[in-house]
Amino acid sequence: MNYFYEKKGEVFCESVALSKLASEFGTPLYVYSLAALQDHCQQYKTSFDSFPTEICYAVKANDNASILKEIFSLGFGADVVSQGELEKVLKVGLRATQVVYSGVGKSQREIERAVEVGVGVINVESVSELKLIQKVAQSKGRIVSINLRVNPNIDVKTNPYIATGLYQTKFGIADEALDELVPLLQNSSSVVLEGFACHIGSQILELKSFEQASLRILEIVQSFKSKGFPIQRVDMGGGLGIAYREGEVSPPISEYGKVMREHFKSTGLKLYLEPGRSIIGNAGVLLTEVIHTKVNREKHFTIVDAAMNDLIRPSLYDAYHSMGHVRTKNGPDCITDIVGPVCETGDFLGLGRTMVEPIPGDLLFIRSAGAYGFSMASNYNQRPRPAEVMVSDHKFWLIRKRESFETLWQQETL
Ligand SMILES: *Cc1c(COP(=O)(O)O)cnc(C)c1O
Repeated sequence: MNYFYEKKGEVFCESVALSKLASEFGTPLYVYSLAALQDHCQQYKTSFDSFPTEICYAVKANDNASILKEIFSLGFGADVVSQGELEKVLKVGLRATQVVYSGVGKSQREIERAVEVGVGVINVESVSELKLIQKVAQSKGRIVSINLRVNPNIDVKTNPYIATGLYQTKFGIADEALDELVPLLQNSSSVVLEGFACHIGSQILELKSFEQASLRILEIVQSFKSKGFPIQRVDMGGGLGIAYREGEVSPPISEYGKVMREHFKSTGLKLYLEPGRSIIGNAGVLLTEVIHTKVNREKHFTIVDAAMNDLIRPSLYDAYHSMGHVRTKNGPDCITDIVGPVCETGDFLGLGRTMVEPIPGDLLFIRSAGAYGFSMASNYNQRPRPAEVMVSDHKFWLIRKRESFETLWQQETL
């Protein structure tokens, strides 16, 4: 289903024209389709309903409270990577037992809080962290359930900045180093090893990588079971990719489900997943207005009111987002760099794009901006972050106000 589509010469989100939202709320503006979000969640639920699965949405992909609330209301748990995310999901109403706490650098304060509220499981990423969790659990008289996050050394085909499953990245415990942990875990009364976790990267479009990781992690499970550990679950992380380019195909969630079920069906293990991008990425767009155009020698620039501070993926990962005019235009095509007002050469949203020549006042929309869009936004150049709007059929409502200049400075002291 396409929830952002063209009709009568302009682009709609569900039954609402994007131009209407721009005039009502201003630009830059994040617009989400509730039906798209629900559809993606439902696809996960249907693909895994015949299998004991806990789907824990990766909060970092998009942590807007309304979006979290919707996802949790559909029965999803949360994968959090900081105390801030933990506090937020609890505030939104999720039970702590439905939280998986991941992350490579949990501080003592964060671990104390996770143990206090009783998160479902902590994914441990180093020996040093394991020792800290044992210390905290002991001092609080609690027994903490953990997974070891392993680094299965799988080379996935994605941007190196978002590949996480190779030894050269900072994530997880190298699978060959796991045996060193055995004595530490066998003699522990405060920490119980109940599972293994991995997250091999993001924007993965080849299911083969997940198969390789599954096989590797099952070997590890076997070896630890034989040593007497009560292994009950495997957390395969997130990482399923989405289509960013016109004509690009991503593996359907149902296919991903089939592959996972096949590998884990006869194991008796409970499966945990931590999808982020594949839930919210293609449920959101970023709307922006053209401020100026100019030509330097032979290069054409379209300067828009959204910038790298609003959507950093193109600058940070050289990521491609498909984009176009909100209102269909006739006229000659031009090849143009879509850039923001921020004072950085790296501030671009798209380079060398072919489109009908934009003029000031035109509205453009940037697709697939729902994940790692607003959640990575900053105030660089003292730019207030955009507003966010949810659309459901003919209805739409603000889910985050545009920041004001006052909120930018309020934490500062003179
Ligand atoms: C980022 C992350 C995810 C989500 O990844 P997506 O590619 O958005 O699905 C899941 N688990 C962990 C540990 C992560 O760091």
